[in-house]
Amino acid sequence: MCDNHFYSGTSLLSRFLPFLRIFCLISLPLCVAEHANLPRNMIENSMFEEEPDVVDLAKDSTAFPTFPALDPDEVAYEPRSSRLLVRGLGENDMDEDEEDCESSARLLGMSFMNRSSAHRSSSSPYARQAPPRSCSRPSARTMVVCVLFLVIVASMTMVLYFLPGCTFTKAGCRKPNKTTPIQPVYPNSTNGELFPWAELRLPYSIHPISYDLTLNPDLDDTTFTGQTVINMTVLHNTNRIVLHGANLNITKATFKLDDGEAKEVTVLEYKPRQQLAVKFSEDLKAGQYCVLTLDYSANLSHTYDGFYNSSYTDKDGNKRVLAATQFEPLYARKAFPCFDEPSFKATFLIKINRKQGYMTLSNMPKAKSTPLPNGLVQDEFEKTSVKMSTYLVAFIVSNFTPISRNISNTLVSVYSVPEKKEHTDYALDTASKLLEFYNSFFEIEYPLKKLDLVAIPDFLAGAMENWGLITFRETTLLVGKESSQLEKQVVASVIAHELAHQWFGNLVTMRWWNDLWLNEGFATYMQYMSLQTVLPQLDTGNLFLSVRFRAMDKDALNSSHAVSTEVNTSEQVEEMFDSVSYEKGASILLMLNTSLPGDQQFRKGIIEYLKQFSGANTDTNDLWNSLTEVEVSTHHQNVSEMMNSWTSQKGFPLVTVSRNGDEVNFTQEHFLLTSENATHSSSLWNIPVTYVNDSCSLAPECRQVFNLKTKSGTLKIPESVKWLKLNYRNTGFYIVHYGNEGWTALIDALSKNVSVLTHEDRASLVHNIFALSRFGRVSFQQVLNLLNYIPGETESAPVTEALLQLNRIYRLLDKRQESGLVARMKSYILSHFGSLMKSQTWGEEKSVSKQELRSALLGMACSLKEENCTQQAKLLFKQYVDSNGTSRIPGDLQHVVFSVAAQSDEGWTTLLNMHAHATYDAEKRKMLQALASTEDTRRLVWVLKTSLKGDIIQTQELPLVISTVCNGFAGYLFAWDFIQENWDRLIEKFPVGSFAIQTIIKSATSQFSTQAHLNQVCFFFF
Ligand SMILES: [Zn+2]
Repeated sequence: MCDNHFYSGTSLLSRFLPFLRIFCLISLPLCVAEHANLPRNMIENSMFEEEPDVVDLAKDSTAFPTFPALDPDEVAYEPRSSRLLVRGLGENDMDEDEEDCESSARLLGMSFMNRSSAHRSSSSPYARQAPPRSCSRPSARTMVVCVLFLVIVASMTMVLYFLPGCTFTKAGCRKPNKTTPIQPVYPNSTNGELFPWAELRLPYSIHPISYDLTLNPDLDDTTFTGQTVINMTVLHNTNRIVLHGANLNITKATFKLDDGEAKEVTVLEYKPRQQLAVKFSEDLKAGQYCVLTLDYSANLSHTYDGFYNSSYTDKDGNKRVLAATQFEPLYARKAFPCFDEPSFKATFLIKINRKQGYMTLSNMPKAKSTPLPNGLVQDEFEKTSVKMSTYLVAFIVSNFTPISRNISNTLVSVYSVPEKKEHTDYALDTASKLLEFYNSFFEIEYPLKKLDLVAIPDFLAGAMENWGLITFRETTLLVGKESSQLEKQVVASVIAHELAHQWFGNLVTMRWWNDLWLNEGFATYMQYMSLQTVLPQLDTGNLFLSVRFRAMDKDALNSSHAVSTEVNTSEQVEEMFDSVSYEKGASILLMLNTSLPGDQQFRKGIIEYLKQFSGANTDTNDLWNSLTEVEVSTHHQNVSEMMNSWTSQKGFPLVTVSRNGDEVNFTQEHFLLTSENATHSSSLWNIPVTYVNDSCSLAPECRQVFNLKTKSGTLKIPESVKWLKLNYRNTGFYIVHYGNEGWTALIDALSKNVSVLTHEDRASLVHNIFALSRFGRVSFQQVLNLLNYIPGETESAPVTEALLQLNRIYRLLDKRQESGLVARMKSYILSHFGSLMKSQTWGEEKSVSKQELRSALLGMACSLKEENCTQQAKLLFKQYVDSNGTSRIPGDLQHVVFSVAAQSDEGWTTLLNMHAHATYDAEKRKMLQALASTEDTRRLVWVLKTSLKGDIIQTQELPLVISTVCNGFAGYLFAWDFIQENWDRLIEKFPVGSFAIQTIIKSATSQFSTQAHLNQVCFFFF
């Protein structure tokens, strides 16, 4: 799935958005990434009421509210908040923002953030019922609960130990006592009977072989009926069948064992875990076959998951209805009863009854259409030729139209609503090229006869990799002929990600959601790798680089988690769709690939992995074993040993370099942003440290490697070496501190000749020095010293990274209403980047890299209200409006131009009108972002309310709207109020833990930086 944050437009920050999260439940429009990294800064309690005491505190170094550390262990089990919620808060949490405060203070010569450790609390800021100003201190109650917990654990251990007949050995209890087995506590079913299962995960005693599904959707009534026939095999003797079903009204159930008669059975339901069960008086025996047939009725879902109804308005103004599915991760059970876990793979035969005038799609090609006596038509699809997990099943009932092409043995088609058919060519072309690439790269042909890519008007994620029927938002699939390369980059990236899933995820699937990164990290990595080969003109290298920076920013927080981590609740399943699974997963695969000897070992290893586990389920170790087994050189590297250190612990290392003559010492520590910035963790990583030096710094052959597995290591270099640059092209997932002398040498070298390092290395220096400043290892003066070389910079990656970092500080100061500092900051940015800003053009631009550069520079200039920029933007907008749509604004500048236009009454009203009539979704979203960036608070409130209502502005855009509103000074407090007031409706629309909810919470809380706001957030969530 692709949690679509990345393609949120071309604002300065969104340029850096991690791209596709392709569970592609690509979820939302997002400005999200922007916010994820923005400082949380708030001084006033409301737009109009300043809170004097907090303002005063900010100026009083000794009394400034402290920023307690976030303790994930404590917050992880807080009721009401899922880990997700807590993680959402944490990601933009104190740590980061506090550091922003500090950085800005340093920048501007202030001392108000002079925090002493005595002011800090080391416990969670989110503990329940914490006293004012120390939401984080463990309460007496917490202590009591902890003690009680320990006592209970100790008691239970003793009870177990002394159970009669149980002999404890190292391996545990050898033989359960026959007379007093330990019975699980079974819950009650809805009918009052005991439900025969008490766990989240299903028992393995029964396994499905095939499903026959028949569905009768009524799009007008938004209901459906269905019949599911499940053929199963018994793996172990058992007296129960347990499977999933959610909100299904079972009307009839029959069961047939081997060749016996079908008999009616009672289906029990346990709603909290969305489980169904049938109990038997006698055991079903291992090796037997059985068939469960369930008839049921249900409502089409009104959210974005399960089998959901949707509608759009066609070009004649008529409302057209459709129904589509989104099953990942836990929603197939809302459409049909099933074993809804990734390891219960089976085949599917699907039949859908529809009205004349509609068409249907499913994973497989249509086998036949049969008229039914009631006037409907039954479309029957071929039985799936592959076994697949339930979350990959999909079907659509609509009036879409396709364009198609044959590639190898596969018919590739792109579907859209009829009036957008002309926007599908690029997607078909790109999908065709990528399918050929993957067929050849993986040396395994795509196994189905057809591959449909469908743009759905109302879709929450970015895209979803259903086998043979990939679903997308319109923005991630449709582009016009005139669209900019940046817009094409979004579409190509999402397609590349979803296609990679047809192998990584569909053919070989993670056993359980704890290893989701095997799907998402791989698909994310493959999307960049494939596009660099297939469509090099899209220049996705910079995008991937910024994705790695953002992944590190989040993983530096205490609220992060290991790539492969325990998942025990449905909310935790949702929470796995985050930057760790996607972007960090992709980053460590890049690091692995670039550190393996021989350029084919990685590819051969994954081909081996795909072949060995084709049709099966795996965990992380299976992948490392496959990669280790493929030896192409004499330098045997134990991949498991190296990679386990990156997947089994959260965070990443800081490598510090110190030099003494010909001796260079490397040390590693956990780069963990806590309130103290002191490392308490003993984590160690197996780091392939790469480096280049002043005599050879650009070509890949210059790269040397030092494997740092211990706390420190020493390397000999010639004394004549002037400087070292580590982490060549930033392919490693670590940050480097060069010490004062090392930094000074690098800064000197850059100031003499910008081209002495690759642009990735220059961007990496910019990213690392800001991070080190937050971490308290370098002064902000040193950051500014490095940035002095920027006017001579010509590449987009270093400039956009510097602007992103400076913008965070600027926003922080702005929301603190530190007007003097804001003015100085503005003047610094405009003078320092002024010559670059002035040299940007406003016409059509072909180069992606130049588009990125100018949209970042002009976005910043216009947001600072730089006169030339705003005048030019207004002029372009006027020409656009006057020409009645015949004059174009270059796609990469639309965001800047619309945002400037939206600041005037007339411009905002014009944009609203244009938004209502826009048919091209990418442009429409940029208009929406502009509407939400107004400083008129009445309009902001209207935009928020209208997005929730979903008529004029689609509810799928609400996360984008909220994050945009939160970005501005005028609306971030309104947005927070809006979230609190409408919380119940929000979690009805977007599941708790989902990427959408993560976005919403992060957007709002990342703007706060005062204790008062922390208390408010604590009070609301805990
Ligand atoms: Zn994905």
